Amino acid sequence: MGCKHDGFEATVNIEKVVEKDNPNVLVGRTASVKIKCVDCGDDFAFINPFTNEESTEIRIAVKPARKGKTISMNKKPKKNEQ
Ligand SMILES: [Zn+2]
Repeated sequence: MGCKHDGFEATVNIEKVVEKDNPNVLVGRTASVKIKCVDCGDDFAFINPFTNEESTEIRIAVKPARKGKTISMNKKPKKNEQ
């Protein structure tokens, strides 16, 4: 039987985004989050991110990613949650 993916490890990186022509001008920041299973090392894929009311927390459904498949980042979020 395959891994049950019961243990997780997350890595979060915060990066500054600067203007292309002028690296001294800060235009924003991004948070990059990666999740993997601690038992088998498989990556997890994100589904439908949304935030709490104050936008201080992001909540994202996740599932084990299929190896070798590119996951679309352009899927329209479903109208539910909230
Ligand atoms: Zn696993």
